[in-house]
Amino acid sequence: AKDQGKNNFQFYIPKSDSQAESRLALATRLHHAIHQNELCLQYQPQVCLQTGRIVGIEALLRWISPDFGTVPPGQFISIAEDTGLIGPIGEWVLREACQEYMRLKLAPLQLAVNLSARQFRQPDLVAKIRQILEETAMPASLLELELTETAFLDNVNEAISTLNQLKSMGVMLAIDDFGTGYSSLNYLKKFPVDKLKIDRSFIQHVTESPDDQAITRAVIAIARSMGLRTLAEGVETSQQTEFLRQEGCEEAQGYFFFKPLWPKDVASLIQNVCKG
Ligand code: C2E
Ligand code: CA
Ligand code: CA
Ligand code: CA
Repeated sequence: AKDQGKNNFQFYIPKSDSQAESRLALATRLHHAIHQNELCLQYQPQVCLQTGRIVGIEALLRWISPDFGTVPPGQFISIAEDTGLIGPIGEWVLREACQEYMRLKLAPLQLAVNLSARQFRQPDLVAKIRQILEETAMPASLLELELTETAFLDNVNEAISTLNQLKSMGVMLAIDDFGTGYSSLNYLKKFPVDKLKIDRSFIQHVTESPDDQAITRAVIAIARSMGLRTLAEGVETSQQTEFLRQEGCEEAQGYFFFKPLWPKDVASLIQNVCKG
């Protein structure tokens, strides 16, 4: 199909028969995963680099399968996209994240939820999100949707229209993995987004690599001049943290601060931070 980006194409060329078989096996089981309660969410805190405080959490999907064990999202999101299962799975993620957020009383933290490109292009996406916000009483302004640049590729005008509808509901928008896609800086001008998430691949070597430093500085500068916030992904060391803070990056997320946590651990972490 014409809406399949370059990245997706490789999924149709199995590297071996056994890989094709295992993808098929996964797809079959994935079907049942929602109804059998095999999906769950972890949450990774996002930290303000100025104050050190937790300002948000990102919901990360987990599939705990009786047959395959814990399957990482990198292995099954692409299958879900190819088979169309991303529709029901993405809807489940949004509802579950909002429900858990309200149940654990996590306001005023920002709740970030990943949307896949195909999910973003579903015609009923905006209606679904509106319905979930109503159903769960989740405040729209505390929900942040993370989109990758591939979501915008196919039909730019339609993408802008969807983004505008989400913005008018009050939802926050972030571009995920910024810099790894087909970034045309021209997009940034047209898209009503609030935040750029600088991809981990630039952060990983940012303290040794002059190129990664230049890219990271440039992204922060562009974001600032356009009134967008920046968050650095995959921060693992204090040196990276110091560099980012000095360069004026607002937020960070990564193992240096917190790994993805189970809901009960998020709840007690937030409670302790508030009390202490
Ligand atoms: P992402 O959105 O870029 O999420 C960040 C990934 O990096 C997560 O992997 C997280 O556990 C990992 N990570 C966080 N901090 C560090 C660090 O300091 N070092 C390293 N090496 N890794 C770190 P995870 O949970 O395996 O998710 C992988 C990808 O799967 C996500 O990348 C996202 O693209 C996708 N994904 C996860 N949950 C969902 C979902 O609910 N819906 C959709 N559509 N995609 C999802
Ligand atoms: Ca993300
Ligand atoms: Ca990311
Ligand atoms: Ca990433």
